[in-house]
Amino acid sequence: MAGVMTFNDDVPVAIVVLGMGAIDTARRIQARYPGSLVHGLVGRVKADVAFTELGPHLRELYARNTPIVALCAAGIVIRCLASALADKTHEPPVLAVAEDGSAVVPLLGGLGGVNVMAREIAAALDVAPAITTSGELRFGTCLLNPPAGYVLADIEQGKRFVSDLLAGATTRVEGHAPWLDAADLPRAADAGLAIRITPHTSKVAGELMIHPRCAIVCVTALSPSPEQSIVERVRQILREQRIASMSLAAVLAPLSMMASAPLAEAAQTLDLPLRFGTLPASFQTLESRDDGMTIALAPHPVDPTMLGQARGTLTVIGLGPGSANLMVPAARQALAQADDVLGYETYVRMAGPFAPHQTLHCTDNREEMQRARHAFELASTGRNVVVVSSGDPGVFAMAAAVLEALDQARDNEQWNAVELSIVPGVSAALATAARAGAPLGHDFCMLSLSDNLKPWAVIETRLRHAAQADLVMAFYNPVSRARPWQLDRALDIVREHRSGETLIVLGRNIGRPGETLTTTTLDKLHSSQVDMRTMVIVGSSTTRSFARANGDGDWVYTPRWYE
Ligand code: SAH
Repeated sequence: MAGVMTFNDDVPVAIVVLGMGAIDTARRIQARYPGSLVHGLVGRVKADVAFTELGPHLRELYARNTPIVALCAAGIVIRCLASALADKTHEPPVLAVAEDGSAVVPLLGGLGGVNVMAREIAAALDVAPAITTSGELRFGTCLLNPPAGYVLADIEQGKRFVSDLLAGATTRVEGHAPWLDAADLPRAADAGLAIRITPHTSKVAGELMIHPRCAIVCVTALSPSPEQSIVERVRQILREQRIASMSLAAVLAPLSMMASAPLAEAAQTLDLPLRFGTLPASFQTLESRDDGMTIALAPHPVDPTMLGQARGTLTVIGLGPGSANLMVPAARQALAQADDVLGYETYVRMAGPFAPHQTLHCTDNREEMQRARHAFELASTGRNVVVVSSGDPGVFAMAAAVLEALDQARDNEQWNAVELSIVPGVSAALATAARAGAPLGHDFCMLSLSDNLKPWAVIETRLRHAAQADLVMAFYNPVSRARPWQLDRALDIVREHRSGETLIVLGRNIGRPGETLTTTTLDKLHSSQVDMRTMVIVGSSTTRSFARANGDGDWVYTPRWYE
């Protein structure tokens, strides 16, 4: 029995635009679907996700079962997807929307909820959707596509049912189906056909079965019988209670089980949201032989987000040096799923645009420990929290502060239950090196010249050793208004060990507006060429350069070998 899921808000919608003319409409549609992203054609329009060719991009989204809203001619979308249609494994909703928002045309994914989306988008744009499905036109609703919270049990059975109705049969409605009240159905109390709304399994010919997602699995103990997995136990209990698996809305467990990996895996295998807390009184618990697990039923479909809380996530990401195309996709994804974004204001702004439901917490650059603690506080209430750093979060940035905060709070169960992850980014030294060529092609070290958090004597010792060891050096935080003399002092130490000919690369605002790249030598370098937005790379004795063929400066590199 194949279940058909209605489109739900968990799958991020891809809104595809080809030019600036469509961006306003795209953003209006985006506001309707939290978490959705606007995909823009490179060179024509800047959006959340860049793509270079429409056809392959649409086919890839389609193959990944992503709902697609393409702001272009329906014909273009049809041509692009034609070759992908033979593969019947997925059928995500696909719609064409006129650039100016004047027409909404559902194209594919009738069973994936395309007409529902067409109505939603049309309502957001204040136009009428172009619905063409005959059952839907006749009855005013698509019987095979019940609203969120309800699942059609069997699509083939459903299709037969609808064609019987179209051929003149009548039907009863058994159970609570409020959305059918407004439908123009050929009802008769004594009809042979019935639409049955029930969480239970049953197979009766001539019935269109719809399961309300009103059942939840309550797990209170992990393994009364260690040899049986949680998933097997769930399947067994469903069989015993004759509850359809499609009726399940969530797995609920006590707060104390929040960090359990087997539980998280089981929920993922069952494709159910995992919530933590206590069972609301409105649920009826079914008796069970398994003393660590029960099924509970609510009178109506359950919105899992109203049940206890989720396991919060805290993701520390690096934005890269500045430009969107140097941010890793995992960081982009974390931002798209974030409820809260914390960081130094400049970086938070760099991480946008944000959806209206996302909360920004901008703080001063010096309040790192406070920010880290605030992030844990938010995440432990079940929110998806992202802390942003520029470059890589582990290089002189927030990841270490976040771990320090957690280390200091070992006894804090809530903080320790948060799902913490760190997403790397392109650090300023790497971004600068790539612009210059490959100055970090051999052994190198990264040093922060800031003595805010470490004694200057430590910095001097490290500089001396690194210079003696002939390491290429990348200087972060080379100067600031509060630290005016440190760079000159550092360069004096380097000059004691390296020749005046040593190559220096200065990258300023790399990947940001007004980016500059300068190549010079140790004896010509002056601290006035450097500010706090500059990365200073000091070459080793083998670092060399040659003129670029286009005459645009030099390539700088450090060979991989030593003489
Ligand atoms: N986590 C960051 C570094 C933070 S320390 C990273 O991995 O890149 C801040 C220092 O990084 C600045 O003083 C500057 O030296 C360097 N920096 C950061 N972004 C830069 C950029 N876009 N161009 C050049 N240097 C940059």
